[in-house]
Amino acid sequence: MTQTQITTPVARPSGPLNAFTVDVEDYYHVAALSSAIPRETWSGRESRVEANTERLLEILGERDIRATFFVLGWVAEHTPALVRRIAAAGHEVACHGYSHKLVYTQTPAEFRAETVRAKSCLEDTIGHSVLGYRAASFSVTRQSLWALDVLIDLGFRYDSSIFPIHHDLYGIPGSTPEPHRVAAPSGRTLAEFPMSAASFLGLQVPVSGGGYFRILPYWLTRAGLKQINEQRQRPFAFYLHPWELDPGQPRIKVGAFSRFRHYTNLSRCEARLRRVLGEFAFGSMQEALQHRGLLVESQDAMRQWPRLQAPLAHAQPLSAG
Ligand SMILES: [Zn+2]
Repeated sequence: MTQTQITTPVARPSGPLNAFTVDVEDYYHVAALSSAIPRETWSGRESRVEANTERLLEILGERDIRATFFVLGWVAEHTPALVRRIAAAGHEVACHGYSHKLVYTQTPAEFRAETVRAKSCLEDTIGHSVLGYRAASFSVTRQSLWALDVLIDLGFRYDSSIFPIHHDLYGIPGSTPEPHRVAAPSGRTLAEFPMSAASFLGLQVPVSGGGYFRILPYWLTRAGLKQINEQRQRPFAFYLHPWELDPGQPRIKVGAFSRFRHYTNLSRCEARLRRVLGEFAFGSMQEALQHRGLLVESQDAMRQWPRLQAPLAHAQPLSAG
């Protein structure tokens, strides 16, 4: 008797298409630990980004979810095979800058130079254009809106660096909370997918991933994301770092607050991630923006864009190089 292999399709949660995003950097690139980790020591540290990103690729693959990976240029230069593996698995590769320096600490010329370096490296590695940008620590703020003009000059089609909340390091409180076309100082526009916050008792609570996802109880994250999808009928942008799934990472000696931000609930993150992936509809940021009609460009430009259609089953194993 011949056995027929039956593949059960993964049940897709309903609701708006949300963007699942990963900021691909290692534990030693993080702003909260930067006071204890001089840049010159990066190359000599134990690299864990490849193994942790592979884990994320596996988890997303189990649910057939395609996401957007904002890759740090420094990581792309050091581990190009990882970037190729992300693209081969059908995900969107986007740009997380080169050096992880906050945008508002750079001059426009420095920002332009490092963004060109990161974007070219990513495009040379995957062989097609990169459309999306996310700044280190969401550092496009009122004082660094000039960065949007640089991004438009360099051919980016969307940005996801604005957090419409109050925070000690970032945020534009009161800015548009849903995906929209944002005007740069020159008057030109590009698509913006801001990070998402929910409103509880008049307080804006970031529920869209990262430290908030690990620190807040899961029920609160879930309630906030449901509020955005169901009551406000809009998609949210969710984000995570590969190191957030890695309780075994080296512990860096920093102040109590940074320790709390970086190390709380690392061991619970994977189980929570699986829950959130099962409860909401996710795609790449490019897809989510296209669903909202925010990436409307000329036919010629569209033809050059990568289409995220490579089936996950065709993903190639990671090779050295
Ligand atoms: Zn980052």
